[in-house]
Amino acid sequence: MQNDPFNLIQILEHAGRFHSHVEIVTRSVEDGSIHRSNYGEAATRTRQLANALKRLDVQVGDRIGTLAWNTQRHLEAWYAISGQGAICHTINPRLFVEQIEYIINHAEDRILLIDPTFVPLLEQLQGRLPTVERYIVLTDHVHMPETNLQNAVASESLIDAESDDYHWPTLSYETPAGLCYTSGTTGNPKGVQYTHRSNLLHAYAVSGADGAGISSTETVLMVVPMFHANSWGLAYACPMAGAPLILPGARLDGGSIHELLETEKVTFSAAVPTVWNMLLSHMKTNELTLPYLNEVLIGGSAVPRHLIETLDKDYAVTVLQAWGMTELSPLGTVCRLKASMKDWSYDRQIAVRLKQGKPIFGCDLKIVDDDNNQLPHDGKAVGKLLVKGPWVVRRYYRDDRDAVDADGWFDTGDIANIDQHGYLQITDRAKDLIKSGGEWISSVDLENEAMGHAEVQLAAVIGVSHPKWEERPLLVVIRKQGTDLSKDEILTYLSDKVARWWLPDDVVFVDEIPMTATGKISKLRLREQLSDYSLSNQSTAKQDSISTTTEDEND
Ligand code: AMP
Repeated sequence: MQNDPFNLIQILEHAGRFHSHVEIVTRSVEDGSIHRSNYGEAATRTRQLANALKRLDVQVGDRIGTLAWNTQRHLEAWYAISGQGAICHTINPRLFVEQIEYIINHAEDRILLIDPTFVPLLEQLQGRLPTVERYIVLTDHVHMPETNLQNAVASESLIDAESDDYHWPTLSYETPAGLCYTSGTTGNPKGVQYTHRSNLLHAYAVSGADGAGISSTETVLMVVPMFHANSWGLAYACPMAGAPLILPGARLDGGSIHELLETEKVTFSAAVPTVWNMLLSHMKTNELTLPYLNEVLIGGSAVPRHLIETLDKDYAVTVLQAWGMTELSPLGTVCRLKASMKDWSYDRQIAVRLKQGKPIFGCDLKIVDDDNNQLPHDGKAVGKLLVKGPWVVRRYYRDDRDAVDADGWFDTGDIANIDQHGYLQITDRAKDLIKSGGEWISSVDLENEAMGHAEVQLAAVIGVSHPKWEERPLLVVIRKQGTDLSKDEILTYLSDKVARWWLPDDVVFVDEIPMTATGKISKLRLREQLSDYSLSNQSTAKQDSISTTTEDEND
């Protein structure tokens, strides 16, 4: 059989040739207006951009960063960069500025393609980014901001005079195509480098009927950001199928999302629970409906029962829970009911749908005990979740050690069980990070900062559930003897030390914090002690006012 390597650019070229009139609709970052285009135009413009990048001396293996929302221009950048053998490094703008600086320098990005929104951020950082030679602002000359960014140019001006003829090189399957850093652990973010092969196989698996089920008959609103774990493979799966693609730009609030779902007759969408919570509250307040939406893929953190039930009963929308990680490209499981479950009672079905789902073929998984013994699939045995497969990380970018064991298994850091039907259920996280609105907050980092206050004897941070952001940090403090530290004082103290949306929503002062036998804070017991504690909807979650964003958006 033929054995030519298959490169990611062939996906967009395929869409350009066989689905040329299928729409790509973008809410523009500049002013929120709606921009209509199609796969034919996108393929043409991608070749123009590739010519421009070549003129700028982009070489195979170069890292080219993007700091951008989901837009057609960002999509074209993805394909133009990897199509010529360079590596598209998607940067999460919600990271703390120091982390953004760290990952750009660690990746040694040569060029950054950025939305106009992020120009001020990069102006602040550029003196500390020695490898970055130039900045391409994803806009036209009308919207190009005044800037002192080095060699700054508007992307439309850059590609304007370029030929739309480009000879894509044939790259080996193993050529790196993408790079995404995960901030899921303490310490510095770690890079996961995807190849043409891993992204392609992942996209096939995502597309499958038991995966996201992307076909040419779906209209897809891709809310999950392209900077968050490959936008769950949808930026490849949609053009592969020729599915109309709707891109929400920077506006991810309930009203903007609802407008797109309705006006673009969206049938399928994907995002973290926070987005759907915001949408539901907007729809309830304004008595809106979802006449076209059929299925939504939700992952990133556990999907609460009320979300599954409300979307199902009130709006006839089926929730498909998914589980994955940046290290898995990211999809590992999708929760679709098996044929044998179709006539189960509603409650029994919900019990299954609250699980993270069954593995999509290509991602093998197992649970093991502390001695690495494989545990049974009985829905009861709980252990460390290990995964293996062609789109699972083997070694972090620029690390000198493998991230997998001798047999190739990657320890996800999640704790889970698997039932007799093959459904995975995440029961806990091995580490005690807090996931707020789809983004990690490190409890350890917060604790370390709080412990820096002169009147704090001991500080612990745990995640408590929050109606909008799923989880928010709660700071627990033992005051030093004879001091009278107040909540406002400690929060003010922390305010210039951590990202604003990391600030704890509340502070509880205690006389004692439970410790483990090895002298560490026992988060388990602390959570138990505070199990009655609850944050109200009015609590001061700050994530909608991250300094790098313009709108009330959250992935
Ligand atoms: P990230 O690499 O930022 O996408 O984070 C990956 C982690 O998010 C996983 O290791 C899980 O702990 C968590 N996660 C992702 N999806 C789910 C889900 N459906 N339910 C519970 N946790 C999830």
